[in-house]
Amino acid sequence: MSTAGTARVEAVVDLDAIRHNVRHLAGLAAGAATMAVVKADGYGHGAVDVARAALDAGATWLGVCTVEEAGELRDAGITAPVLSWLHVPDEDLAPAVGRQVDLGVASRRDLAAAVTAAHATGRPARVHLKIDTGLSRNGCPPADWGDLLDAVADHPGEVEPVAVWTHLAHADAPAHPTIDRQAARFDEAHAAASARLDRPLLAHLANSAATLTRPDLHRDLVRPGIAVYGLDPTDDGVAPALRPAMTFRSRVALLKTVAAGEGVSYGHIWTTPTDRTLALVPAGYADGVPRLLGAAGRLEVAIGGVRRPVVGRVCMDQVMVDLGPAGEPHGVAEGDEVVLFGPDDGGPTAAEWAGLLGTIHYEIVTGVGGRPRVRRSLTGAAGQLTA
Ligand SMILES: *Cc1c(COP(=O)(O)O)cnc(C)c1O
Repeated sequence: MSTAGTARVEAVVDLDAIRHNVRHLAGLAAGAATMAVVKADGYGHGAVDVARAALDAGATWLGVCTVEEAGELRDAGITAPVLSWLHVPDEDLAPAVGRQVDLGVASRRDLAAAVTAAHATGRPARVHLKIDTGLSRNGCPPADWGDLLDAVADHPGEVEPVAVWTHLAHADAPAHPTIDRQAARFDEAHAAASARLDRPLLAHLANSAATLTRPDLHRDLVRPGIAVYGLDPTDDGVAPALRPAMTFRSRVALLKTVAAGEGVSYGHIWTTPTDRTLALVPAGYADGVPRLLGAAGRLEVAIGGVRRPVVGRVCMDQVMVDLGPAGEPHGVAEGDEVVLFGPDDGGPTAAEWAGLLGTIHYEIVTGVGGRPRVRRSLTGAAGQLTA
């Protein structure tokens, strides 16, 4: 395969896969609207490009964590509804309200910040009231819910309540008993809010896992994140139709022969058993290859479709790959493409890295570095226009 012009390290994002995944999710939740979650720079895939592809494929909302992330979408000219859900005390929310970004509100303090922003901009703040139904993270504790609703009711012109929402603790285990308990608390909070505020309010609580496995929880709006990127949020293979969108790749920078009995890379945790051909791949932990993967000793890359073991420590900028006994044909040339992880086609995947590390693939894809170390390029129909 020709790799001329390929970057040293590159995250290639397949926007057709994003569109496919969003169409699939929106189809599963056909009775609900779909909010594509593009926080953390689109889980490392590029928030603006993913957002455009998702909207193109049937999502009608976008979800982010911070008002800065919302601002990036608005700066790019994206006008779709955006919800931003986590803010710190004294954060200036006026720019967000001025740009029609909806705000998550879970306390009187959050509400006060939204009211301040409404005064500053002269337009009501659209708020999604978050009830803590059992995740015990952000969200209003049920005991304070009535008080928060009173506070909202006290600011009729300044805040416009749009939704009641919550987040699940065990959605990745679809039969977990806490899910029904959270749903029951949620319905109670939603009913109380609708009655106290005397208006219809959207209901939303389904992340990717619940979108895929719990149609009873789709309500008015689903909020898939990881599934948009083609990664299965459960361990059960519930989402065979999803297509992983990111290929993280590098190139062979150097081939060399290392004599038998030599230590390789920092700390010499691996020693050549015989004279070996090694390939240097210029991607390391500064690019998003976790250093602990080297210690696990089971990291593999794919070169020309063949899996090869990484040997020795992962360094900041590079890893070494064992191509076998020196003198034996290996079919690898300097400049060849090296797939670090990619689609589930027999090569290594983000889920495989997560398994080696005892973490989740969410952390792997969001850990992929940005410019200037890692180039992000796009494939798929719109991608060719913007790459
Ligand atoms: C991140 C996030 C989501 C998306 O979760 P996934 O598991 O990636 O689908 C949905 N809702 C909230 C509040 C989140 O923080």
